[in-house]
Amino acid sequence: MSVVRLKRLVQALTLVGVAAYTMLLVYQSVSATGSFAQQQQVSGWQERAPRSVSRDYDLNNNNNVIVARPPKMPPPPPPSYHTGGIATATSKPPTTKLEDVFISVKTTRNFHKWRLPVIIKTWFQLAKEQTWFFTDSDDAEFQEKTNGHMVNTNCPSSHNRKALCCKMSVEFDTFLESGKKWFCHVDDDNYVNVPRLVRLLADYSPQEDWYLGKPSIRAPLEILNRDNTSQKISFWFATGGAGFCLSRALALKMMPVASGGKFISIGEKIRLPDDVTMGYIIEHLLRKPLTVIDQFHSHLEPMKFLQQDAFHEQITFSYSRYSKDKMNVVKIDGLDKRIDLTRFLSIHCFLFPHFNFCPR
Ligand code: UDP
Ligand code: MN
Repeated sequence: MSVVRLKRLVQALTLVGVAAYTMLLVYQSVSATGSFAQQQQVSGWQERAPRSVSRDYDLNNNNNVIVARPPKMPPPPPPSYHTGGIATATSKPPTTKLEDVFISVKTTRNFHKWRLPVIIKTWFQLAKEQTWFFTDSDDAEFQEKTNGHMVNTNCPSSHNRKALCCKMSVEFDTFLESGKKWFCHVDDDNYVNVPRLVRLLADYSPQEDWYLGKPSIRAPLEILNRDNTSQKISFWFATGGAGFCLSRALALKMMPVASGGKFISIGEKIRLPDDVTMGYIIEHLLRKPLTVIDQFHSHLEPMKFLQQDAFHEQITFSYSRYSKDKMNVVKIDGLDKRIDLTRFLSIHCFLFPHFNFCPR
């Protein structure tokens, strides 16, 4: 074979190779944009849109949200996305103590008697001074039970965007006034493993900008830019129902845009609920990335997959009702389900067996 013919053969083979590879890529990208429902079946991860997106948001037909299509597999961390295990504080921060933390629990008057007793009986006892309940009415009974730690935000008592943003706004402003180093928000269906939370925060410096939490969707949220509708904005946000924390340094940087009730205006502008608004302010406006902490858990995850022998490592737990007689709760050998429907008493006794209500 002459050199020229050999060259041509090599060129032809290269062309065939390139064409085959291109076809493979096209095929992959087409199958990766298959329907959302199909993807869910493949992944087996019960995924639900953020609370706003599924409620008043959709109902009011304010659809500026494009929930980015999740890839088939959990995504590789994008450049602006820290993972808790990798990104830790640059220099060893000063030791964080429980006293440095401000824990806000969002609640509403109809939930006081259903959701607060188990919290007050369990983890609240380990952070009585640090924990505040943000609600929407005066309640003398629970004011007493929490040693005066109920805050009436005077926000509306409903589960819509405005009401939720209103509460978050008061939580945030109250934290700023408290002078504490860390702001941690949870919902009233969260169990907080208090010493573990403090250990987490001790890994980071409150003088640096930290937004610690866990997203509930596997790709950043994409919304249309309301100032320029030809543009899209995409950002991560930590699900409020799993709990999240902000360092004081970051909260101070947020002040000009988010304090004194301005948080509500931003929520109104983007028409998204409190936790999404938080992500928008931090990731989009301030360009500070969310650091993903896997040990925060909302009831958007199936709780039964959490292993009991790893409970000490988890920072928050939650519960919810799947249907009339099916609960999404952790699997734990513990107290009878009739007295511990949420499993929070059992989690607490597993973590802190010395508590007086725990079986010995
Ligand atoms: N919530 C509220 N006002 C309401 C309903 C709920 O402030 O009218 C609070 C509730 O106390 C909880 C959070 O919003 O802390 C989320 O509510 P829920 O767990 O009922 O719903 P989810 O969004 O988790 O499905
Ligand atoms: Mn909930």
